[in-house]
Amino acid sequence: PFGNVTLQRYPAAHDQSLRAWCSADELLLQRFYQSTETKGSGSSLQNLLIVNDEFGALSVALANQFNVTHWSDSLLSQKATERNAANNSVSSICYYSSTDNIAELIPDAILIRPTKNISYLQYQLAMLSHYFPDTAVYCGIMQKFITTGVKAAINQYLTRVEPGMGEKKARVISARTPDESHYTDAFNQVNNKQNDSEAGEDLSHHWLDNIPAHIQPGLAMPLKYINYKSLKMPVLPNVFSSGSLDIGARFLLDNFPNVSSAEHIADLGCGNGVLSAAAALQNSQANLYGFDESYLAIASAKLTFHANRIVNKQGNIRAQFTVSNMLSHAQDAVKFDIILCNPPFHQERRVTTDTAKLMFRQARSKLSSNGRLWVIANRHLGYYRDLAKQFHRVETVSSNAKFSIFCAENS
Ligand code: SAM
Repeated sequence: PFGNVTLQRYPAAHDQSLRAWCSADELLLQRFYQSTETKGSGSSLQNLLIVNDEFGALSVALANQFNVTHWSDSLLSQKATERNAANNSVSSICYYSSTDNIAELIPDAILIRPTKNISYLQYQLAMLSHYFPDTAVYCGIMQKFITTGVKAAINQYLTRVEPGMGEKKARVISARTPDESHYTDAFNQVNNKQNDSEAGEDLSHHWLDNIPAHIQPGLAMPLKYINYKSLKMPVLPNVFSSGSLDIGARFLLDNFPNVSSAEHIADLGCGNGVLSAAAALQNSQANLYGFDESYLAIASAKLTFHANRIVNKQGNIRAQFTVSNMLSHAQDAVKFDIILCNPPFHQERRVTTDTAKLMFRQARSKLSSNGRLWVIANRHLGYYRDLAKQFHRVETVSSNAKFSIFCAENS
């Protein structure tokens, strides 16, 4: 169903046998084409919204016939799709991130590839239902990933759900968004309640106001947050460790480096910004920079700073959070005295240490002459060896049964 399209993964996987599409993509394309033929609606369909198209297989294949908008939380997915589009001489795809305002789009149909994170699926379905009532939705998924959570989210937000026939271990569930939006008022009502419930706190600081208004219809309210010691981390969908503080991050917080003399501090793969917040509280003079490839992670890190009032006199947060593939968006002129890193070991559903190793290499080139990279990781991943290949000196600062903290430097 992809026609003559050629597709590659980005970033390239160490394991060369991995493809840039799966049978859920193939079946989704087939079923979508079949339904447009049966209903004779092909010619009236112009605008497609494609959700979580990891490497662009769907967007690139459909862009010759339709106006395609790619909607995703991942900068890497956008980059992968851009590359595959360019390699196939497709230039017309439009890119929206998970935190962009999609209200202005007018999709005639929506193709979605649910990711593993259920709160993110709920966020996307709530946003789609809110902004695009009464629209056809085609949901392509591998059968083994159709969990009770996936089914519940689909049944909660969509109507006329038809499970479809399985084929090659995949399935396409077709449905429609409801013809009326139910979510507009829910946010504001509960938002006000939450502010009321914080009556004991300084009510002049409405940190929830820092959530962009256009993503509010997607958020379940009251917004949950994780507390750790004096820190409060608001939980946005698709952000790492949404239920409770990651035990690795906690171990690093309990054995936190002395960052008091650092001028520039980076948080590589910052997630909800917990490590940056701890660094900012220890050193109020440092320039802090957080990087993550997830748009919702960057939004949540900013929110963490607001929630903990780590702001300057003008009310601006005391850090720059940037959507970035590793440190690629770091300013050339800035070298970091400290880089904190709790590296990812998953890319979507795949366990991998590829990104962590690339992060170590990039970190080395971005450290100041006395700079140090602090890494927290599962012991069994054996990162000591990988770090020792890149750095002159690596120390295991602390270990428990599950985690190790490494400090690597070149001086
Ligand atoms: N720092 C947070 C903490 O300690 O709880 C989150 C750590 S989590 C293990 C790893 C983070 O790296 C995730 O937020 C993920 O989105 C991010 N990430 C994954 N690949 C990345 C990449 N190529 N560039 C930047 N960030 C990435």
